[in-house]
Amino acid sequence: MSPATPAADRRDEIAAGLATVQQRLAGACAAAGRRRDELVLVAVSKTWPASDVLLAYDLGVREVAENKDQEAVAKRAKVAELADLRWHFVGQLQTNKARSVATYADLVHSLDRTRLARALSEGAIRAGREVDVLIQVALDDSQGRGGVDPDALWGLAETAATLPGLRVAGLMGLAPLQGPPVRAFARLHELSVRLQSEHPEATVLSAGMSADLEDAVAAGATHLRVGTAVFGHRRPTLR
Ligand SMILES: *Cc1c(COP(=O)(O)O)cnc(C)c1O
Repeated sequence: MSPATPAADRRDEIAAGLATVQQRLAGACAAAGRRRDELVLVAVSKTWPASDVLLAYDLGVREVAENKDQEAVAKRAKVAELADLRWHFVGQLQTNKARSVATYADLVHSLDRTRLARALSEGAIRAGREVDVLIQVALDDSQGRGGVDPDALWGLAETAATLPGLRVAGLMGLAPLQGPPVRAFARLHELSVRLQSEHPEATVLSAGMSADLEDAVAAGATHLRVGTAVFGHRRPTLR
């Protein structure tokens, strides 16, 4: 999309993206013997303007995700009339942004350390809210993508579960940058089953993006975070 793309054309682009993703999800469900209503499609609107969020909403999207607090706050203000739109926060979250994120996020996918849990809890209490959080697990050793080491997951879950204003809703994982995602997603699913044995309410499994959503559905994902396949290729230098 160029800045000059007329709104009607942009609506068509997003409609086509959504239709393709819905078709892929239907196919993945059929292949995995799962029901479509077990899955939540989260449209990752980061880098795209608020006008795209409005178009997506008009096309039926009710879950969007952002990965930068400042961008999320500005975008939300522009579509404040969409009262039943749910906001997800994905990607690495700095502790000093956590209080702000806790005022609006319905589901934070990237809890990966105790300090962040405490900051989110404080923000939620101050805002008089309950914030659902997913613990992000590091599925490979690549640095800089966030996520707690699987061995440290249990302690973090215990701590987060005791903090007021937070609800541990499940796990999130990113496929490794190299190689097929199947083993990493299977490991994530195992961890999710084990987490639910101690925290039965932690039923969310956020896995799968544009490139690997079929593998994620096969591995038991409940939430798919899909940006490119819905909105197109992000061009960060232009926006
Ligand atoms: C951007 C982003 C996505 C969406 O990625 P696509 O490949 O564009 O579908 C999913 N999850 C996280 C954490 C992201 O930052």
